[in-house]
Amino acid sequence: MEDCLFCKIAAGEIPSKKIYEDDLVYVFEDIAPTAPIHYLLIPKTHIKSAAEVAAENSALVGHIFEVIAKLAKDLKLDDGFRVVTNCGDSAGQTVKHLHFHLLAGREFGWPAG
Ligand code: AMP
Ligand code: ZN
Repeated sequence: MEDCLFCKIAAGEIPSKKIYEDDLVYVFEDIAPTAPIHYLLIPKTHIKSAAEVAAENSALVGHIFEVIAKLAKDLKLDDGFRVVTNCGDSAGQTVKHLHFHLLAGREFGWPAG
């Protein structure tokens, strides 16, 4: 999709700190981390948000969660981690390309923080 920040990052047109990449998924450091580990996992194809997940692309979301589990194992996140996807304006989605925040390395409150 034209003028999508995360499409450009996945294509290497805008620099990012890469953590992991395969044919379907790109993982990079969040530019404004809110935890010692704060990575963003994005599909390489443009999906606007979790609201656009359907039969034709849900396997990709499953694959992203496989990558999350692999990273958590590799990074030894045995104490726990958080996965967040903000969907839509009221939830605070600022980039309209589906992404999952992987957060770890501190205590997390619930429901806030
Ligand atoms: P959200 O607010 O859930 O849409 O998350 C968007 C995230 O993208 C925020 O945590 C931003 O800090 C992050 N972000 C924005 N621009 C960049 C960038 N150029 N490189 C890495 N992360 C970015
Ligand atoms: Zn995009």
